[in-house]
Amino acid sequence: MHELVYFYPEGHAAHYERDHPERPERVETMRRALDEIGWWQPYPKLPPIETPAAVLEAIHAPDYLKTLQRASARGQHLDMDTYTTTASWDLAVNAVGGALAVSQAVWHGDARRGFALTRPPGHHATQNRGMGFCLLNNIALAAEDLLQNTGAQRLAIIDLDQHHGNGTQDIFYTRGDVFYFSTHQSPHYPGTGRVDEIGVGQGKGMTANFPLSAYSGDMAFTTVTDALILPLLDRYAPQMILVSYGFDPHWRDPLGSLLLSAAGYKTLIERLCAWADANCQGRIALVLEGGYDLDAAAACAQGVVAALLSRSWEDPLGAPPQPEAEAWLSMLGQAKNLWGL
Ligand SMILES: [Zn+2]
Repeated sequence: MHELVYFYPEGHAAHYERDHPERPERVETMRRALDEIGWWQPYPKLPPIETPAAVLEAIHAPDYLKTLQRASARGQHLDMDTYTTTASWDLAVNAVGGALAVSQAVWHGDARRGFALTRPPGHHATQNRGMGFCLLNNIALAAEDLLQNTGAQRLAIIDLDQHHGNGTQDIFYTRGDVFYFSTHQSPHYPGTGRVDEIGVGQGKGMTANFPLSAYSGDMAFTTVTDALILPLLDRYAPQMILVSYGFDPHWRDPLGSLLLSAAGYKTLIERLCAWADANCQGRIALVLEGGYDLDAAAACAQGVVAALLSRSWEDPLGAPPQPEAEAWLSMLGQAKNLWGL
């Protein structure tokens, strides 16, 4: 069994727009930082696998898929923030295939951990719409593929990006087979992810949100993990954890004002890995979402891979320059009450 497998999105630099924050350097910086510390070369880079049409169409409406393909053929924007180029459709399909390949490798026990450096990102893409720099919902498609094609019945998606994964939440909001938990800055783009958004119908109690006030940092993330995420994982008992990994909660990020450090990120992933080791045969895979500061990209990539590989590591960027605010504490009481914890 491989200790770790990656997906690297070959050719992804053809998806770019001048001066746009979602740029190829994000992934290249991560790759370089992992190479420099010796954690890139030794581990296999899985090629994307072909996404079955039934999986694609279970997550995205056929009309949206056609719209995206048409927009990409012309290099048109989907909305003000969300660009395509003539390469974007193929690259988006490739990124999905990479998330599937890594998830399947971990599910089948070919690899202990997985990390898909997916670009373009995915968690804002809903059934019907690409938005927030996201075209196809890579992590939702990876979960759907495991459910349809491997016998998996219960999965968890933990979304640690600075933004709420409105697309992923929407997709699974009425379903009982994927538990979705998001921490995100609030108020902030895209405006969803209130604590009382918990799913409906069969999905009731299968969505959990923890909106973090600006300037929440390591203490908030660690406390929310211990007080909410891990107990809710115990309750739901998923067979695998998929993580929407955005490095934009980092204190250097230009689009957000959370104060997570790279060392803090390492701690979160260590906690999730320990849960996975104790409860679901160590099955955990990371899928890249956002994150826009290149120094944070490098430090967080090393930090989370240190956690995936159980290695020690020192955070070159250290703690944020300002102290963490504690407004999140009142939300913690509310959330624990809501969930009976
Ligand atoms: Zn984000």
